[in-house]
Amino acid sequence: MLVSSESINAQAAKGFQQLTADARAKKKLNTNAALTQRVRRIGNDLIAHVGVFRPEARNWAWEINVFESDEINAFCAPGGKIGVYTGIVNKLQLTDDEIASVMGHEIAHALREHSREQMSQKTLSSLITSTVSVATGVSGELMDVGSQMLVHLPNSRAMELESDIIGLELMARAGYNPRNASSLWKKMMQASGGKNGPAFLSTHPAGNQRIAELDAYVPKVMPLYEAAHAQKRGTRQR
Ligand SMILES: [Zn+2]
Repeated sequence: MLVSSESINAQAAKGFQQLTADARAKKKLNTNAALTQRVRRIGNDLIAHVGVFRPEARNWAWEINVFESDEINAFCAPGGKIGVYTGIVNKLQLTDDEIASVMGHEIAHALREHSREQMSQKTLSSLITSTVSVATGVSGELMDVGSQMLVHLPNSRAMELESDIIGLELMARAGYNPRNASSLWKKMMQASGGKNGPAFLSTHPAGNQRIAELDAYVPKVMPLYEAAHAQKRGTRQR
């Protein structure tokens, strides 16, 4: 039996609050003002278009925080709680388009409620945390179910492809160039190998097939990007 959206969103929000409080206490929350502003600007550009895919998501209590961590990771928990790790931006030297690509992909998982789809009450209560504990140094055993909600379970290939496609359209609509989406995955692959490979890859296998499928979809969303881009330019000129 599936957990209700309300219950999963509430638990994710609780976990996000806890993660945020832990990071603040350790002075690892939004430490770089310029980076925080940049990530929030890109995130808010994307969030402005979520209604296309899920009308009620416009009313979610969206939050975006940047966590100082060497880990190459990012997430959007159910209900719109977004975390971006400094490691993913700094180590992979992400451009704005690539940040939009990873955030768009993660937002797509939340919009499609993939966590909820995967999660029965039983797995919810027995989940062992990893992602969050690495970021905050809080050991997994100490974290409650709320925090565990933020952990990204490995998604099925179908969920990954769906999120890639929705994420691509989201970034195009927000005026970020979808042609640059797949370079995120190329950088991710280059950074893999060795014990310090991207944590993100453990739940998001990247490979040539993924990149080819993503790139094949780019022409379909280019008109959306061009329209958004023209509008952006127009706004700037006015
Ligand atoms: Zn994914």
